[in-house]
Amino acid sequence: MTPERSPLTAPDCLFCRLVAGDVPATLVASTDDAVAFRDIDPKAPVHVLVVPRDHHADVGQLAAADPALLASVVRLAHEVAEDECDGAFRLVFNTGSEAGQSVFHVHGHVIGGTRLGWSPA
Ligand code: C5P
Repeated sequence: MTPERSPLTAPDCLFCRLVAGDVPATLVASTDDAVAFRDIDPKAPVHVLVVPRDHHADVGQLAAADPALLASVVRLAHEVAEDECDGAFRLVFNTGSEAGQSVFHVHGHVIGGTRLGWSPA
């Protein structure tokens, strides 16, 4: 699916370029406002990233600027998880470099496909 308008982009943003098709990615699903693709360095049998087409640096900024878009991202994450791991998944938004965020275009990690432990730190 393609967006109805051009997305808001930031210069030199890797995921803006990926959404535009200028950086290769293995797409899993997409909607008018969000895209899901496989993480290039998977940490679990299912590891998919879900991003809004519009550029927002992190989940807090997205929630403040466009809560409906955050809901779209979470809906798409849930759909991917229903398809790939029977709806049992973890949705992680690393936020800030201290928390492990390395790409500053908000992305939810959909992680699943195995029994997950609970020791994030
Ligand atoms: O939460 P964080 O910002 O660290 O996550 C970025 C993720 O983006 C990493 O898991 C990395 O493997 C992934 N990535 C990707 N495709 C790229 C660049 C990074 O899937 N071209």
